[in-house]
Amino acid sequence: MPSGVARLPRNSAGRPVPGNIAWYEADDDGAILVTQDHELGVHITCPCTPGRGTPKFGEQCPVRQREFMLQRRCGLCTRDIEPTGQLVFVGETSAQYYLEPPLHPLCAAYALQVCPVLHAAGERIEVALTQSYALAEDRITEMTDEGKMRRSTVPFGHPFAPYLGVLEFYLAFPETPERLPGPVWLAQRAPKLPA
Ligand SMILES: [Zn+2]
Ligand SMILES: [Zn+2]
Repeated sequence: MPSGVARLPRNSAGRPVPGNIAWYEADDDGAILVTQDHELGVHITCPCTPGRGTPKFGEQCPVRQREFMLQRRCGLCTRDIEPTGQLVFVGETSAQYYLEPPLHPLCAAYALQVCPVLHAAGERIEVALTQSYALAEDRITEMTDEGKMRRSTVPFGHPFAPYLGVLEFYLAFPETPERLPGPVWLAQRAPKLPA
């Protein structure tokens, strides 16, 4: 396990919980909290604290997701990724953008081997290797009568963006990525995990 992963809070089964995962405390009713400020306009906020309550794997905390995307921090171990360092995005084949923050190569190698969802997906998981990425804003523009959310992708920091809906996440568009199937990258190119 990489050292940055070893110090993450654990779930009840002892598994390290990635930094971008949402946590729920016993008195949390699961309501979506919306707030507003000058910079972001209306946006979803979240009071959760890693290590407090129960993590919900598969659900990202919007506040930390946005921080990690903006600050070039690893979605697993939460640490900075050096400005000249390689970034790894993990997702479906030929994904144009990613909702999950970038990872350190070592953290991506760990996730691909240990995460049951990624492991089960095998060849359908692709890694995108890049040095940099551009951001866009994922905003909820409408709630339909059936309670479904309509979303739009808005250019990052666009002056009209704060008026176009409720900001939830940032989307990362990798710049000139090299793409490889997850298992191929792991076998041939990924850094080896510490023994
Ligand atoms: Zn949260
Ligand atoms: Zn990391």
